[in-house]
Amino acid sequence: MTTPTSLAVPTVTDPDVRAGYGVDESVGAVAPDDFEVVRARDLGDVVEVMRWAHETRTPVVPQGARSSLTGSSVAIDGGVVLNTEGLDSISTIDPLEGLAVVGPGVVNKGLKDAVAAEGLFYPPDPASSAFCTIGGNVATNAGGLCCVKYGVTGDYVRALQVVLPGGEVVRTGHRTAKGVAGLDLTGLFVGSEGTLGVVTEVTTRLLPAPDPALTVLATFDSLDAASVAIVALRRERHVPSLVELLDRAAVSAVQSLADYGFPRDCEAVLLVQSDRPDHTSEDVQRYAALLTDAGAAEVAVADDPTEADLLLAGRRALSPALEAKGPRYLEDVCVPVGRLTDLIRTGQGIAAAHGLEIVMAGHAGDGNLHPSIFFDAADPGSRRRAHQAFTEVVTAALAMGGTITGEHGVGTLKAPWLAQELGERELERQRAVKALFDPRGILNPGRVYWS
Ligand SMILES: Cc1cc2nc3c(=O)[nH]c(=O)nc-3n(C[C@H](O)[C@H](O)[C@H](O)COP(=O)(O)OP(=O)(O)OC[C@H]3O[C@@H](n4cnc5c(N)ncnc54)[C@H](O)[C@@H]3O)c2cc1C
Repeated sequence: MTTPTSLAVPTVTDPDVRAGYGVDESVGAVAPDDFEVVRARDLGDVVEVMRWAHETRTPVVPQGARSSLTGSSVAIDGGVVLNTEGLDSISTIDPLEGLAVVGPGVVNKGLKDAVAAEGLFYPPDPASSAFCTIGGNVATNAGGLCCVKYGVTGDYVRALQVVLPGGEVVRTGHRTAKGVAGLDLTGLFVGSEGTLGVVTEVTTRLLPAPDPALTVLATFDSLDAASVAIVALRRERHVPSLVELLDRAAVSAVQSLADYGFPRDCEAVLLVQSDRPDHTSEDVQRYAALLTDAGAAEVAVADDPTEADLLLAGRRALSPALEAKGPRYLEDVCVPVGRLTDLIRTGQGIAAAHGLEIVMAGHAGDGNLHPSIFFDAADPGSRRRAHQAFTEVVTAALAMGGTITGEHGVGTLKAPWLAQELGERELERQRAVKALFDPRGILNPGRVYWS
């Protein structure tokens, strides 16, 4: 399969370079040999590819930085990868209207830094912030560490420019602070995982910059005490800007990478932050007292931003620490906050029953955990058991009133469970909505609405 030479768009010809565009950060999703990569330079390139692909019924996979953990940015059916990293300009930062207009290829941290220079704040903060793109964040409705106070990407998207199959360029939403005219098509594209159109411009809301965050670290000898603390933090009038949890196995993984000062002999570590202007010191002292009352074994308060960053460094080291441990199925279930301890205990029980190691950590303030289930890549039986354990964790989360994915999306990894969460009739309605935008089914085929 090749793109016709009549297309004046830049393709990747070196097979080794191209192979790098055929995987993302998920387990198992790999493109076949015969796929092409277009690195779009501008709107015109995207329009041209989308017109041609629609005419020739060629699969198109929109792609950002390939940090997806669900296989959603891999050309599993071949066709064309349409990479939008090159559309990386920030055309507007408007302090009066509190908005920025950016290309989908702008890196999350790049946008944060650019608006910070104007005294503004772009809150969405996935742990992949240093390399993931705004286009990918919009397409997955990415969350992250500060959602407990600030919400997810979709809470900031005001308007989009999108190219549909066939090449039509559409605009959704509004630049104004308010606007309720018509259906919310912006909301429809947010989180649609590249299945409805290719995002070519994002207008996003900005906030005034908060204060540099201060951090509290608390260790717990029991999960129950940590759970009491999380519930108490959720009731705080001044909501923390971060509430992250690491279980014993997560602490051990982080400490194996380097000494981040976490005691290995505790059942759980909670990290809590405040960034409330002029009140960070007061807030972290109050959070520290609350954590102590909840039964924390030790509480450390960082009362300057440098120390605060040091306390958080262990949490930021979690992804590389877990990667260093070996192959794993990475979960993203989200349950009501009150069921968090049940989820952890259930997950630990499931892994033990299959003779596997599980590490539990994540965005506890949202009830969104990322259990990692490790397996031996050289042993097909171990991999099979890990997949079975993964299935059981998803099923348990659904039974607790949760969801199969809090922020990573459905992709290929979670597609088999979407009907279980939505029900067949709702899934049919969603397939009908997709068909409205993509009648020939060329965009990101074989995932999300899998059947
Ligand atoms: C170490 C690590 C930590 C992570 N932490 C978090 C976290 O805390 N929170 C979180 O939510 N996620 C997290 N992720 C997952 C991932 O970073 C996010 O899903 C991110 O939003 C993907 O952005 P990307 O640019 O890499 O997109 P890609 O992975 O390239 O694509 C992701 C999806 O977006 C679609 N897409 C990309 N660009 C466009 C476009 N222009 N138009 C239409 N569709 C498009 C793709 O088709 C695909 O469906 C993490 C990943 C890693 C590796």
